[in-house]
This record gives sequence, C-alpha cells and structure tokens, in this order.
Amino acid sequence: MASRNCAQRLRLADPISALPGVGEKRAEALAALGLQTVGDLLFHLPRAYEDRRHVTAISDLREGESVTILAEVVKSKVVRLRRRLSLAEVTLKDDTGTLRAVWFGQDYLARVFKPGAHAFFTGAVGKWNGPALRNPDYELLSGDEDDLLNTGRIVPVYRLTEGVSQRMLRRLVRTALDMMTEPLVETLPEAIRERHGLPTANDAMRVVHFPDEIDTARAARNRFAFEELLGIQVSVLSARARRLQEHKKNLHTIEGPLLAALRKNLPFALTKTQQRSIDDILSDMASTRPMVRLLQGDVGCGKTVVALHAIASATDGGYQTAIMAPTEILAEQHAITMRDFLSPLGIEIAVLTGSTEGARSVRERIASGGTQVVVGTHALIQGTTQFHKLGLAIIDEQHRFGVMQRSTLAEKGLEPDILQMTATPIPRTLAITVYGGMDISVIDELPPGRTPVKTRKIPPAKVDGMYDYIRKQAAKGLQTYIVCPLVEESSARAAKAVTKHFDELVIGPLEDLRVGLMHGRLAPREKDAVMHLFKRGELDVLISTSVIEVGIDCPNATTMIIEDASQFGLTQLHQLRGRVGRGSEASHCFLLGKAKTDDGRKRVEIMCTTTNGFEIAEADLELRGPGEFQGVRQAGMGDLRVADLVRDARMLDAARREAEELLKTDPQLKKKEHAALARAAEQFTEVNA
Ligand code: ADP
Ligand code: MG
Repeated sequence: MASRNCAQRLRLADPISALPGVGEKRAEALAALGLQTVGDLLFHLPRAYEDRRHVTAISDLREGESVTILAEVVKSKVVRLRRRLSLAEVTLKDDTGTLRAVWFGQDYLARVFKPGAHAFFTGAVGKWNGPALRNPDYELLSGDEDDLLNTGRIVPVYRLTEGVSQRMLRRLVRTALDMMTEPLVETLPEAIRERHGLPTANDAMRVVHFPDEIDTARAARNRFAFEELLGIQVSVLSARARRLQEHKKNLHTIEGPLLAALRKNLPFALTKTQQRSIDDILSDMASTRPMVRLLQGDVGCGKTVVALHAIASATDGGYQTAIMAPTEILAEQHAITMRDFLSPLGIEIAVLTGSTEGARSVRERIASGGTQVVVGTHALIQGTTQFHKLGLAIIDEQHRFGVMQRSTLAEKGLEPDILQMTATPIPRTLAITVYGGMDISVIDELPPGRTPVKTRKIPPAKVDGMYDYIRKQAAKGLQTYIVCPLVEESSARAAKAVTKHFDELVIGPLEDLRVGLMHGRLAPREKDAVMHLFKRGELDVLISTSVIEVGIDCPNATTMIIEDASQFGLTQLHQLRGRVGRGSEASHCFLLGKAKTDDGRKRVEIMCTTTNGFEIAEADLELRGPGEFQGVRQAGMGDLRVADLVRDARMLDAARREAEELLKTDPQLKKKEHAALARAAEQFTEVNA
C-alpha cells in the first residue's frame, strides 16, 4: 500500500491493513471476525446500540446503576496493589460532586487522563474507597463533538473476538468512514427502495454505525439486510429460470411397465403427500427441462418409497440411477429396500462403497449398463465410476454434503435429473435462501398406523425403573437402542466411552439380555454384522454412538434411550428418535442426563413437547442462529453478512416477491437500473447452477 495519510482514498476492496493503526497482529485478530477488507469492516454492522447520550450528575449516582457522566479530571495516579496487579485511579468532578474511576491493569490510563481534561465516562457505579466507576468506557473531549465514538452519544456495539475491542472497532470504523471517498454502489432499484421506505446505500452507511437516533440506525441496517436477501433471491431465482430454459439430453418415459408393476406390488396405499411428490417428480422427469428437486420429509415418512417410483420410471426408459448416501450403513440399508421392491421386477442393483469387494467387476457391470441401479456413498460420483447411461441421481441426506452442484456432475459429462432427499426438516426461511432455486416437494404426514413416540426426561432416581421396562419389552420381543453422546462418533474416545457403558450394563441391569455394541471404530463388516443381528431380532438392545442416526429401519425397535441428551443438537435428537416409532407398537424415547447449559435444557424440553420435525427445525434455527445452522455454510454461501433468517423472516418474503417481480419484467437483468443488482447477485454462489 501507499503511504498512510489521511488524504489517502480507500476503496472497499482494500485490505484492512490499509487502515492506519492496523498492523499484522491486528489484521490477524480482525480476520478471525471475518474482516479482511475495508468493506468487510464497514459491513460489520453493530449488533446493538447503546444510548449514552443521557448524562447523570455525580451527586445523583446510585450504586449498581449503569451511567454516563461528563466530568473534569482532578488528578490521576497508579496504585500498586500487589506484585503484578496495579490500577489507574482517576479522580473526577462535575458541578455536583467528585467521584473516582479505576481501571485494573491499565496503568497507562493514568497518563491519558491529565488534570484539567474533560471526558465522558460510561460504566457501572461500584465501590473503590467510596463510590467509583470500575473499568468505565471513556471518551476524552477534544472540543469537536463529532469526534465522539465511545460515549456521550448513541454508540455501536459490535460482535467481537479475542484481541478486538469495542473501542478498537469504533475507531477503525470511524477512520474507514472518513477515508472512504468512493460512494457505495447502489444495488437497490429506486422503485424497490421507495416501496419499502429504505434509505440509499450511502445515506444508510453514514448513519448505521454512529447514528443520532436509534430508529434511523435500524432503518439503515434493514436496508442492508434487505439488499443482501434480494441479491440472494435474484441469484437463486435466475439460476432456476436458466435451468428451466435448458433442454436435457435424457428424456424419460413415464408410465412404463416397471412403474406399473411397482405400483401394483406396493403392499400399502401411498399417503396423499407421497402421491403428490411422486406426481411432481414424474412430471419433472417427463419434461424437457432438467429436474433439480428437493424431497423433504421427516424420518420414516416414506421418501424412499417415493424415490422408487422415480427409479422405476428411469429404468423403464433404459436409464441408470445412482443413489448416494452419506454413510455405508445407510447405503446398504437403501440397497436392501431397493432389492425388496425392485429385484422382483427384474431390475439389477449393485452396491458400491469403499468396502465393496470386487469393486472392479461391479464398476464394469455399471459401465456396460448391466447394472441399472447403483447404491453407494458419495464416492460413487466423485470416484472413477463410469456410467453407461446415467439418467437419475438421487442424493439422500444431502445436508451432510451441502448442496449437490449440478456442475460437478456436468464436469464428468453427466447430466442426470437430480432428486435430493432430506429428513432434516429445513426451516422455511432457510429453504428459500439456500435451496431457493430448487423445486421442493414436502411430505408432511406419516403413513397411517404409526403411534407417535412418547418422549420423557428420566431423572436419576427413575433409571432403574427404566431398565425394568426395557427387560419387559425384551420379553415381548421388542427392542431398544441406547445412544451415548460424543460428537466425534468415530473417535477413539467415543469408542471407549460407549464400550465402557456397554461393559457396565451387561454385567448390571441388562445382564440377562442380548446386547450389541456399535460405534464408528468398528470395521464396516463388523458394523454390518451387528446391524443385521439387531434387524433380525437376535439382539434385544443395541448400545451405540450416534452412528445409528440414520440408516436403520427396524420396526421392532420401540425404545430409544439417549444418554446425556442435552449434549446432542436438536435435529440430531429428532433424527435419533425417528429410529423408533416405525411399527405399530407404541414407542418411547427416554432422555437422560442433567443439562449443563440453558440451551441444552431447552433442547430437551422441546423434544418432550413436540414430535413435529418442522417445529423442531424452527426451534433449532432460533437456538443456534442461522450461521451455525447446517446448510448455509455447507452450501458455500458463507454466512449472511447482515440479514438474520430468524428476525428477518418477513423481510425475506418481501425480498423474494420483489425478486420474482423484477425477473418477470427483466429476466436477464439487462436494464440499466438493474446492472448493479445483477453484479451483486453474482457474488452469491449459485448453489443451483
Ligand atoms: P424415509 O426414507 O422417509 O425415512 P421410508 O421410505 O424408509 O421413509 O419409509 C419408512 C417405512 O415406512 C418403510 O418401512 C416403508 O416401507 C414404510 N412405508 C412407506 N410408505 C408407507 C405407506 N404409505 N404406508 C405404509 N407404510 C409405508
Ligand atoms: Mg430414509
């Protein structure tokens, strides 16, 4: 960078180190907040504001109150308390009285506050040889009121990280604002701005950090949130529009003989929403446009059965299907279902995972077209597998991979129709944002005859009774899962913890039962063996880490016990619970352990009050915040810079509507007034491209 002087012009794209006072160390600390450029800093909007305009007279101070005072420095000194602990003590006065202010471990402040200086101080009134402000925030007055950053005004409160203080950020933001001579690009078309009463980008930036009124700051912040949401919506909706213009190579036949045979053989009636989803999918497949559809539905609602219809239809037209699952266990589970339903129709199914023996010959059958349906892990598509004629890709539990990019497939010369399935209900706002360009089908009912799982917290005193209950269930031929927490399900620690629990239970309360052990450290073949024993009813209890989260469909299992339940995430708890309640017997979920955090306690409570996956997803979004919610980051969109998918739900709907309208009148965003918006939209990864 050029020399640092205040006349220097700064651009948004300049590195943050271009700001005076930002050296290597600070730049590093700021990077931890995601702030690398001047633009990042300016768009690191305050998370709150504090009104420090109201000045209290020293004589009116009461202990415990948080106040702002305006005072003159009488004297300052450093007080040594003991070795390595000292404080700066400053005596202050105003027209009504005197008061001390003390800062622990910040001796230099004794030199900062020179007798006769005037300053604002904001902090809590505590005690230090009489009433005193302890570690107050301050602002020395230079005579120019506009210079106030930290007190005596409405001050911004930022999200921080180690090595970055409010004072530092306020100073840097102020400097950046002063040095920015280049106006911000206005991406919001005027008509939209006016319709929603939003200030221009430059007006908003002027007030969003250091406002005179909190309302103005809110309006400014909302403008940036709206801009962000509109950019995303324009991006996802135009990707969708482009896809709908494409013509695909694979034209599927529908209503062929295999589909008819599958329908005829189904041992149950489809639910209404299963039927509707099948109609959606088949009409996508029959159309000349590529399908990118998300099939969303709670565990056990029958998504796999819906997928079978798509597969039968693809096979009818001579196309192959690839089904990708996140784990080997789940892939094998799918293979079993596929074989149950599709083998009788003469469809050849193969499994291809990391542990498949004779993978070479399996690949050959796929390449020659002999195999019509391949079930595997993600490696199936990433690896060297050659397809004869891939017409359909089904991706299960895609939230674990992020959104499947069509471009990844296209690079391999593959352009199948894509069906993604997820059992993790996606909150509406997230679905619109991350999956906004996809078509979505939702199954929101369970097949008839299921009894909802009853969920209860089990206090320590009732644990023995719970084991009695398990033994009684076992006597009736009903099975139990016991899941132990530990985030890293395949770590050595997890294996050890679950093994220890197993050892204790099999010589204790579960002594006379047949108990299996499962964790991510077992070899795939061992896992398989345990799973099969459990599925065949040759085990009464399966003690496991959360590897059983997905992938097991065992209607005979009616009890799910989750140890230290508060340690799991909400959606994971819900997924685990979904492993029971799959048959006609009443099922129970027992949650054990004392919550260590407030959120942990809330998660357990929510589990006890609802079994509705969508309600749980919304609650999860609220507890965790959108940044941490699975999906946004994996989808490659990074974190939303300003908008908040919980607080700004209404704004999101408005942005979506505006994006739709806008693309109706100007589909390519060719108009001059849309040029800046078009460029902004490009920044958002086109997850559906
Ligand atoms: P998901 O994949 O959504 O978790 P599955 O497709 O595996 O659900 O279905 C769960 C269980 O319910 C399976 O045993 C399946 O055969 C059964 N099933 C699916 N649809 C129905 C239905 N309409 N009526 C009765 N049982 C069904
Ligand atoms: Mg499933």
